[in-house]
Order: sequence, then C-alpha cells, then structure tokens
Amino acid sequence: MSSKPPYVELNGISASPGIAIGRAFVHSKEIPPIRRRRVSADQVEEEAERFLNTLHQTAEEIRRTRRLVSAEHGEDLAQIFDAQLAMVNDVEMKKTTLRCIREQHCSAERAFQETLEQMKQGFASIEDEFLRQRLSDLLDIEHQVLLRLNGNDIQALHTLRANTIVVAHDLLPSESAQLGGRMVKGIALDVGGSTSHAAIIARSLGLPTVLGAGKCMESTESGDVVIVDGNAGRVHIRPTDEVLRDYRLRLRRQQRRERDLTARRGLPAVTKDDHTVILLANVDVPGEVEIAVANGARGVGMFRTEYLFMGYQLPSEEEQVEAYSRIVKAMAPQPVTIRTMDLGGDKLAHVLNSFSEANPYLGWRGIRICLDTPDLFKTQLRAILRAGEHGEVRILLPMISSLDELRTARSLLHEACDELLEEGLAFQQNCLLGVMVEVPSVALMADDFAQEADFFSLGTNDLIQYTLAVDRGNSRVAPLYDAYHPAVLRLIRQVTTSGRAHGIPVSVCGEIGGDPSATVLLLGLGVERLSMSPGLIPEVKEVIRSTTLSHAREQAEKCLEMKTGTEVREHLKKGLARKPSGERD
Ligand code: PEP
Ligand code: MG
Repeated sequence: MSSKPPYVELNGISASPGIAIGRAFVHSKEIPPIRRRRVSADQVEEEAERFLNTLHQTAEEIRRTRRLVSAEHGEDLAQIFDAQLAMVNDVEMKKTTLRCIREQHCSAERAFQETLEQMKQGFASIEDEFLRQRLSDLLDIEHQVLLRLNGNDIQALHTLRANTIVVAHDLLPSESAQLGGRMVKGIALDVGGSTSHAAIIARSLGLPTVLGAGKCMESTESGDVVIVDGNAGRVHIRPTDEVLRDYRLRLRRQQRRERDLTARRGLPAVTKDDHTVILLANVDVPGEVEIAVANGARGVGMFRTEYLFMGYQLPSEEEQVEAYSRIVKAMAPQPVTIRTMDLGGDKLAHVLNSFSEANPYLGWRGIRICLDTPDLFKTQLRAILRAGEHGEVRILLPMISSLDELRTARSLLHEACDELLEEGLAFQQNCLLGVMVEVPSVALMADDFAQEADFFSLGTNDLIQYTLAVDRGNSRVAPLYDAYHPAVLRLIRQVTTSGRAHGIPVSVCGEIGGDPSATVLLLGLGVERLSMSPGLIPEVKEVIRSTTLSHAREQAEKCLEMKTGTEVREHLKKGLARKPSGERD
C-alpha cells in the first residue's frame, strides 16, 4: 500500500490558464540500478551488438519524435532534437563503450554508463549555460538507453494515453514539444518560472500548466488522479470527492465557455462605445499562426525568433528567410512584427555565449548581443526584409536601453537594405522599426524614443522585473512580481501618452496583454493594441466587447492614484463586478 497522504494540494505558478483533470504520468528520469556483470569472452561480440542495436533503436525513436514534432510544430522547432541525435551517434562515445565491452568484458549497461560518466564530467567543467542544458539532453539519452538495455519499456511522451497529466521535475524544450497531441491535458512541474521554455511552449499548446509546484513529482504516482488548476496555479493530487466534484463543475463551465467563445470568435473587438482595439498574436512556435488566423488576429504583434537559435548551429540567412516567410505568407495581408533574437537571460545563446554571467538578465542579452555581433544581426535583418516580399513585416528590437542602440540598429538596417538592393534580391522597402519598451530607461524617455522609433511594444514581462527588481523566473520572489504595481502602471501610461503625442502605435506584448483581468485597465491606460498567445484572443475580445472606453479610463485614472498593487487589484475586482452601460448589449 502506498504511504503517500491521500490528498495533496500544492501551490505553484500559473504558467498556462485553464483546468485539466486526468491521470498522472510521472515523467521520471531515474536511472535503473545497474547490476555488475562480467561478459565471457565468447559473448563479447553479442554484447557489443546488443549495445549497438539499442543505440540504433534509441536514435530511431528520437527521429520518430522529431518527425512528429516537425509535422505538428514545424521544422525549426524539431531541430532541437538534433543535439540528442548527435549524442546518440557520437563516434567517440561508441568507441569508448565498445572498447570497455571488448577489452574489460563489461556489460553493455556498465560500459555505457561509465562512458557517459566521463562525458558528464567534461560537461560539468564547462561554465556554459547552453552546455548545462545539453547535460540534461545527455541525461535523457542515458536514461533512454539504459532502460532499453535493461529491458524496460519506455513510454515516450508522444505516446501517452488519453487524459494524461504530465508530472515531472522539469521538462526540456524537446520534451515539452512532444506534448502537443490530444492525449495530454495538463502539466505540473516541480520547478520553473512563467517565462521558462516549458511555460512558453505549454501556453502555445494551450495546455493548463502549473510550474514551481515544489514536491509535485515526489507526491505523485503514475495513475493518480491529478487536477491542474492553471488559473490559480494549484495542483491537486488524489483529490477528495468533494474537490473533484467542484473541479468537474468548473471544467464543464470552462468547456461551455470555450464553445461559446469559438462560436463568437468572428465578432469584432469593439467596446460598447465603439472603440476598436487591435488584437494581435504572439508567435512562439510556428504552429501558432493557424490559431492566430482562426481567432481573427489582426496580425502578429511579436514573433519570438529565439527558437531558431536553440540548435547546434546558427541558422543561415536562407533558413531564416524560409522560417519568416512561412509566417508572413500565412498571415498576409496582415502585418507580422518579427522581434530580432532576444538571446541571453534565460534564453540560451550557446553558439555565441561561452561564459556564464553572475546576472544574465542584466548581462549580454537581446540587442546587446545583436550589436556586438553585427554580421549575425545583419543576417537576421536581411532575412526579415526578404520575407517581407510575401506580405508585410515590421522589425522589433528587444532589450533596448539607450537611443544609441536604436540608432546603431537603424544604421545596420539601412546597410542591410543597401546590400539587398545592390545584390538585386527582392525585399520589403520602408520596413517599420519598433522598440520593445521593457527597460525602465526607455519608458522614462518615451518622449525621446517616440521621435525616432516607428512603434512601441511594451514588454511588460521584463518591464515589471526591471522596475521592481524581481527576477521573473524565480518562484521564491514570485509574489513580489506584481503587474499591478502602481510604478508599472505609471510607466505604461507614460509610454502610451508619448506614443499618442508623436503619432506612433503602442502595443502590449508581455503576458499581461493576454490576461483578461487586465484588459480594462490596459485600455484605460491608453493601450490600443494587445498582442497575446493566440488562444487567449477570444477571451480578451469578450472583455473588450462588454466594456466601454470611458469606464476603462475611469478605472485606470483611479488606479494610477493608488499606492500599492493590492489596492489596484481590489479596486479592479469591484469595477469588474459593475457592468458598464453602453450602446450594445
Ligand atoms: C516581455 O519582456 O514582456 C516580452 C514580451 O519578451 P520576453 O518575454 O520574450 O522577454
Ligand atoms: Mg522581454
């Protein structure tokens, strides 16, 4: 009988909204115990062959997953499996293992494990964030190969049964990317912040997800009933009948609401007093464009391009042209805002960054990397301009903190245009160049920036972290990460006021842009464009259609005078309860 308590409730961070109820699949990477076994001389070749067959089988399985991910999310995302394939096919690894089997008569399991131990030590001595990530890939391979050699079944993440909740300590991007089928209903992880790769992919897949839930894995057994409450950031393991009944009700309500929203997704995003709000999509993985189109997005407000740089090699100009063109064609004639690579911080720039930084979020990140590696940056700018041939592109610069950076970027953009012209390649001329407002210095100098930038996009995820000095990925300080802090609201207002004064558009592309409980406040603060995970568009649109701009402004004015985030939230809660009157029902 299990010694685990019957019902466990854990608090974490809400990383993707919605409720999911299902049976747990505990994704453990525990290595099975390896028995010491000597192989007799006449069995050595058989053992070597068993090892090679297992490697072959593992490589085949990775290739299969890669194909599935490629079909579902596109080739670019599938490339993250290339690192694992390279490891399974590593010639040195094979040679060392085979030598150990043949010369020391070790079993395949033992020989492989000893070889990997040496490889792991090599990885650990390198102070590189990306290689640390590759270490998890290596551990994953070790796990898969040893289980197979041991005769255990491996349940791959993409072959799970219906209504599964994936419970794990953490998930690699390669693992998260396998969860897109219909079987997985939700995710609960021990660690992670709302902007980790796992969170971003989970949101794109529309899977209710709670991260940073602490002892989730330790408290769950595969087969347990688990509820993931992605709205409240809570995980219920082996819930009582009462809790289960309550959540089934909520789930039915959620499903009804989703059906209603789907039926109404063609309606315009207009307030009751006839003010139109432009709803745009954030695209993190290419598959999201279809959802964006289906949900009536008026364009892509931010296409995060980092995933292209997550592999072993930098993408070529042609590869980038292809990736961007796919999105631009799917979205045409609506514009696509492509953000130049925002590597650094928690997004690993392995090919470029071979040192670790004490404060990566304050370090070599975003535009800083771009301007320090102008050739690389120009390749991306050229690829974006060339993709513009198929529709309309706009370029968005991340992590800008000074006007010098914007000016240098603009001159590199001019150089890229001149080169393309000279080479006779087709491209989009007069491409708008916008600035992410995510460092407080830009918000404070918005008036000056608005005279040189073509548009602003408020990156509230970072703006909040830099304004409040709270690490956005650290679950311990998560309660301090407050989107409603009056300092943040006042900065947003300053940016929209400057944007309006200089006639440039201002959008919000941080997570708050897709949070229905913040919509009225943002409208009231003067935001006229909201960019969000495409699955969130219908819900935000409903809020817009049920309010008036004058009510939103009234709410925002009061909030701007408040002294704490708590006061703001309480005020908004009361305001939401009061349905504004207006022209339309
Ligand atoms: C932001 O900071 O709000 C943003 C949209 O960018 P990212 O989350 O990719 O840093
Ligand atoms: Mg950012």
